[in-house]
Amino acid sequence: MHVLGLLGGMSWESTAIYYRLMNEGVRARKGGLHSAPLLLWSPNFALIADRQREDDWSALAEQLGRAGQHLKRSGAEALLICSNTMHCLHETIEQAAGIPALHIADGTGEVLQRAGCKHPMLLATRFTMEREFYTKRLRDLFGITARIPDEDARIGIHRIIYEELCQGIIRDESRAYYRDVIKQMKAEGADSVILGCTEITMLITQDDTDLPVFDTTAIHAEAGVSWILG
Ligand code: GLU
Repeated sequence: MHVLGLLGGMSWESTAIYYRLMNEGVRARKGGLHSAPLLLWSPNFALIADRQREDDWSALAEQLGRAGQHLKRSGAEALLICSNTMHCLHETIEQAAGIPALHIADGTGEVLQRAGCKHPMLLATRFTMEREFYTKRLRDLFGITARIPDEDARIGIHRIIYEELCQGIIRDESRAYYRDVIKQMKAEGADSVILGCTEITMLITQDDTDLPVFDTTAIHAEAGVSWILG
């Protein structure tokens, strides 16, 4: 099996889900005591979030690039950046680390394409919804036009991610808020839902809507498992 390095802890709430899914995935295919060979880098997320808020992406690029190099030196043959948002630095991190980083939007694009969903709504942090790196990749590589919520909804979705989900807080009112956004965007023609932040899976599942739901945490973890198993 190949060794995979996780740039995790962004937040650890979702990295814990990746860890479980990847170990379950390896056990499901190989059986017995087999588990995923993983290396984990897990920083203090408060400092990462500060830098995001201050718009200091070059410091983050340097920090994650260095972390990727450490993981490589420790034996990782590829990386997973366990956050949609931090994929805005994907190329820089990959180059600094000198090993491939499996892109979260690629697995997601492939699954959407197979399902024939061309107009998903993208629920994510404001960084992922408002910067081009994610929607552009889906469009350019997969012909998928992701729709983003209006500004009020983007603010609400983002707030719930950082003030609740990343702190392990799950509220029914917040679930109702997300469900309203989904309902509204469905009425406007969206054909599916991308859970484009690795914590949203803690709040929203396929039970919350009749549109197909694409969980980037599960999709990315599965891509990691396939890579580990070669
Ligand atoms: N885990 C999140 C994501 O998938 C948000 C936290 C972060 O800023 O990295 O975008």
